This record gives sequence, structure tokens and C-alpha cells, in this order.
Amino acid sequence: MEKELITINAKGSPPVEIPAQGLNGFQALKALGINNMEKMAGIKINGEIKDLSTEINSSAELEPVYTDSQDGLQMLRHSAAHVMALAVKDIFPETKVTIGPAIKNDFYYDFDYKRAFEAKDLPTIEKRMAEIIEEDLPFIRTEIPRIEAIEFFRSKDEEYKVELIEDLSEGKVSIYRQGNFTDLCRGPHLPSTGKIKAFHLTNVAGAYWRGDERRAMLSRIYGIAFADQKALNAHLKNLEEAKKRDHRILGRKLDLFSIRDDVGPGLVIFHPNGALLRHIIEEFEIKEHLKRGYEMVAGPQLLKTELWKKSGHFGHYRENMYFTAIEDQSYGIKPMNCLAHMLIYSSKVRSYRELPKRYFELGTVHRHERSGVLHGLIRVRQFTQDDAHILCTPEQLKGEIQNILDFVRDIMAIFGFDYDLEISTRPKKSIGTDVDWQKATKALIEAVEEYNLPYQINQGEGAFYGPKIDVMLKDALERSWQCSTIQCDFALPDRFDLTYVGPDGEKHRPAMIHRVILGSIERFLGVLIEHYAGAFPLWLAPVQAIILTITDRNIPYGKDLLETLFSAGIRVEKDFRNEKLGFKVREAQVKKIPYMLVVGDKEMESGNVTIRLRDGSNLPPMFSKELIGRIRDESENRR
Ligand SMILES: [Zn+2]
Ligand SMILES: [Zn+2]
Repeated sequence: MEKELITINAKGSPPVEIPAQGLNGFQALKALGINNMEKMAGIKINGEIKDLSTEINSSAELEPVYTDSQDGLQMLRHSAAHVMALAVKDIFPETKVTIGPAIKNDFYYDFDYKRAFEAKDLPTIEKRMAEIIEEDLPFIRTEIPRIEAIEFFRSKDEEYKVELIEDLSEGKVSIYRQGNFTDLCRGPHLPSTGKIKAFHLTNVAGAYWRGDERRAMLSRIYGIAFADQKALNAHLKNLEEAKKRDHRILGRKLDLFSIRDDVGPGLVIFHPNGALLRHIIEEFEIKEHLKRGYEMVAGPQLLKTELWKKSGHFGHYRENMYFTAIEDQSYGIKPMNCLAHMLIYSSKVRSYRELPKRYFELGTVHRHERSGVLHGLIRVRQFTQDDAHILCTPEQLKGEIQNILDFVRDIMAIFGFDYDLEISTRPKKSIGTDVDWQKATKALIEAVEEYNLPYQINQGEGAFYGPKIDVMLKDALERSWQCSTIQCDFALPDRFDLTYVGPDGEKHRPAMIHRVILGSIERFLGVLIEHYAGAFPLWLAPVQAIILTITDRNIPYGKDLLETLFSAGIRVEKDFRNEKLGFKVREAQVKKIPYMLVVGDKEMESGNVTIRLRDGSNLPPMFSKELIGRIRDESENRR
């Protein structure tokens, strides 16, 4: 009997006919003459990533996935997680395994062992992992009925796996085996453990099973894995740099803020320089908003619970809110600033001629974040947003979104951030009509496309009340941070019956945008500290200059200079202590103060100052007038 033939092809190479049975992905790619087989992680079959061992039995477009590509790295890291699980089970046989995904640069696996794993366990686990990689064990995929999988994992005492499978719908589940370790897994995986060329276990932390604090506390071991040692080393160097820039460490060194147990987790105390830095940013923001036609407003911290019921926050967001009672009346502390802004809008009849209305508030909000996710200034329980709500006609929506994108572009250029955009569309559970969603989503996409900015669409990831654009900042270490968001809302204008009188004399529903540019000021500060490694540009630096005397004789002259600079509005400090100049300079350098103004006998005589910069270089001596001009100029140009 003649064998049936199918056609396979790969981008850029002519189609090839192969027998419909008997060839797997690896062999099919070989038949197509594709090289570099040893660097292959998996295969894309009609765009879907699969194991190389997947049988090809219908015509398809094939594409190799290499270990150094984004998709390949995901497979590599996820496979490394399986290797780690095998290593842990080999060394600590009573360990129960849970889940082990690849995340952005890392992978992790959560384990339940009689004690928490510690950093000192990691080298032992790494050593066993290296042996498993050396053995080059194949990853073998099998599909078995769900009920069989439950029995299998129950027989192995893997209760977490049993729970996971019990949550799956009827039918078959896939399992992967390498050596004597079997895991429930959707895949895909590398063909064998030997493809993992470079890995390192980085960290161990506690994590609740399914993120639920009422359930078991597990040990989460993190690792990184790369296609080669060079890429791993580069990443480790980056991590090292990130550690040095950690805003929690720099925040203490620069005396910017503190977070204390006796105050409460996620609650920030800003020290003088931190509060000043924050004030500089807020002042800058107010100016930028007023320039762009926003109006400043301010709402109260507490609003009656009935109002939160009306807005839907009580129904959808209650878990994240704090409530209190005053004279038997229940109040909610605001987690968002929207409500007061809408009440301002609805405080009188609005004509289409007044639109758009742009209400801006540096609004302090409180949100209940679980203590496990709190992190320095990045995730806190009380923070201030540069929040605005724009109410406009549906026709104005696209233009308003473009205005906001302009705003984001201008601001991020000043701080030196690159960014990507992500558009999130309608989720399954949502309110509003199809027409509304289509219109708003179209407005978002068109606005972004006219910008020529790269963007990705997150299908179904929008809020239940409307689509949104997220701005993902890239900092100096190429790390990405979520920052600005632009969010359309169909729900609130309805719930609060917001209207405007159109040219036709009839009442119409305005479109509403919630938007933040920097987002949480606290979080943005945290990102800025790491981005600049604490060396803020002059316009942001809470202390722009410090006067250093050489001997006590120079103190009166130093005081005069201090007065002159103060009255010129320069943020200046003094160090008149009886210490060696070199010591004072080093201290000022640790504080990353841009200008060190040295005054000694020579300077006193000539009536000028000698200037040292924080990078160690010097400027020629200057008179105070010149210096003031220079500092003002740099500040105005936001350098
Ligand atoms: Zn897996
Ligand atoms: Zn809002």
C-alpha cells in the first residue's frame, strides 16, 4: 500500500513532501534541511510551540525554536524547573512537589518539605541538577486519562498534584517524565536535560500554596537559566548591579524614607530629603498638568459606604478597601479617586461646549495589599497617585487619548525612560455594550498606531468596565515597570448618571477616562532611585550642592555663601565640621550630591569657590553669581 504524503514547509525554504506517519518534529525539520539542530529547543507547528518529539501527521508550516530565542528560553527555564524538582526529590525524598513555572527571566518551583529550604541548601541542589543535566535524560510526554493521573499522584503521596488535577475538567491530562520524576504538565519541554547549558539557583523564599495565606507555607526556590554561560554571566552582572541599586538600600543610605514594623507594613515615612524629592516631583507634575488644560481638584479621604456601593467598588473591590464607622455611619477609605471627580462633574448641568473636563488630583489612596507582596516603595498600602479623570464626548475620546500619550512621551523623555505599550481588551466577564467596547478599543488602538510605537495586545485582559493602555517603562537596567495607565470606563458614567447637553439639546452620556502618568508617586520614586542609582539629576536632587570648609577660619565665608545660595532658591547644605576635606568629600559623594563647593583660604581671598562634581571631576573656580546661573540653567533644562 502506498503511503500517504503530506507537505511541510518552513519560512524561506521550499515545501517538502514527507510520509504522513512516522516523522516527528525533529526529523521533519531535518528533512527540511534546517541546521543548528543541537541548539533546538522545540518546534512551532502552525505557530504553536510544541515538543520536538511531536508527530507531524498533517500538512503544516514548521519553524524551529532555538534555545536562545524568547520562546526557547521559556522552554529552557521551565525544563530547568523540572530538573530542579527531580534534584530536590533525590536529595530530600519526602518533599512534596507543587508547581514550577518559568516566569520572565527566572523559573521557580514551590516545594513542601518538613522544614523551609534555606540558601545553604542551594549549592547541594545545584550540584545534583548539574549531574541530571550531564545524564542528558529525555523529557517524555504521555497523555493519560485524568482519573489515572489522580491515582498515580495519589500513590506517590503528591497531594498537591492530586488537587490540581481534580480541578481540571474530564478527559486526558499530559504528564512529563525525566528519569524517575513525573510531573503533571502541559509542556512543551526541551527534548532532554542536556540542552540546559547554563543555570544558577538564585534565591529561596516562602510562598503560600495557591497564594492563599490560609493554606500551607511552601519553599519557593528561584533559578535562572540561559542558552549559554555568557548570557548567564551577563545576567548575573545585571543582578549584581540591580542589588547595588536596590531602592530600599539606597533609600536608607541617602536617608530618604523608612518603613517600620512598629508603624505597620506598607506604610512609608518620608524623611526630609525624601519628602523634598517627592515635593519636587509633585510640583513639577502640577505645572505640567495645568499647562495641558487640567483642573486641580481634591476629594476627601473618607466617603460613605453607600457611595462605594453605588460605584460598584463595594461589590468588586471590597477586599482591597478599609472601612470605618463614625457615629454609626459606615465609611470607606478611598482606594481610588474617581468618585469625588464625578461628583464635581455632576454638580451642575454640563454643555458639550465645556467638554472635555480634565480633573486632576494628587490623590492619596489606601489599598489592602497582602503583606507577602509588599516591597519597599514599589508595593505599599498607602500611596499617592497623579490621578486624573477626563469626561468628554465620544467623538473626543481618541484625541484625548492622544493628548495623554503626548503627555507620557514628554514626561518619560525628561526622566530618560524608554517604554512599550500594552493594550488590554474586553474580558469575558464585563459590562457595557459591544458597540461601546468596539468604539473605545478602536480609539485606543488607533491612537497608539498613529504614534508608531510598538505595542502588544493582551486579549481579554481589560478591566470589567473598559479597555486600557498600560505603559511599561524600561529602566537603565532594561527592567520593565508598569507605570502609566489609560483606562476607558463605561460603568461609572452610567452608575452616576453623568450627562451633558449636546448640540441637539438632548442629554448624552459622556465618555470617561481614568489615567495616571507616573502612577503611584511612591512606586515611581522607587523606580527612579534604582534607575538613577541614587544619583538624581540636578533638577531632582533634594540637595543640589554642599559647602565644604577646609578649616574653621573659612566658616564665616561659608555662611555667607550659604545665605546667598539659599536666597537664590538653591537646595544647599553645609558641612562645616572640623574634619579633613577628603573625608567630607567622600561623605558627600556617598550622598550623591551633584555639586561640592570647597571654600578655603584661597577661595576666601579671591571671593570664589572651587567646585568638585560627584563623579570626581573638577570645575574651574567660580563666583557665586556664575554658579547660581549654572545651577538654575541645569535645573530649568531638567538635567
Ligand atoms: Zn513542565
Ligand atoms: Zn479613577
